[in-house]
Amino acid sequence: MTRPSNPARQCTAKAKSTGERCGNPVVPGATICRHHGGAAAQVQRRAGLRLMEVVDPAIATLVRVMVHSPNMSEQMRAADSLLDRAGIGRSGEAAPGMDELIVVIEERLTQMENPK
Ligand SMILES: [Zn+2]
Repeated sequence: MTRPSNPARQCTAKAKSTGERCGNPVVPGATICRHHGGAAAQVQRRAGLRLMEVVDPAIATLVRVMVHSPNMSEQMRAADSLLDRAGIGRSGEAAPGMDELIVVIEERLTQMENPK
């Protein structure tokens, strides 16, 4: 497996024999890779919570940029990023109507409230 370029995304586990740090990428939101416990249910749950803690501030920042930036291309990038993260149409796909958008948002909220 290749080492992640960002050390923060590299597993923090160390080999007992050599003391060298594991080179595997971390499970998203965790500090360890799948081989060092990242697949454990409690690790996945905490990782999910950690990620959720940053989602709201990140979305708020994107919305602020989209609404208040004086730079039109920054506004467009923020809007594109928000739609992309919501899983709503990329260029080439038909833009969803408001009714479809509401259905997608309701589905996402239901998924968040009832994780599998
Ligand atoms: Zn590891």
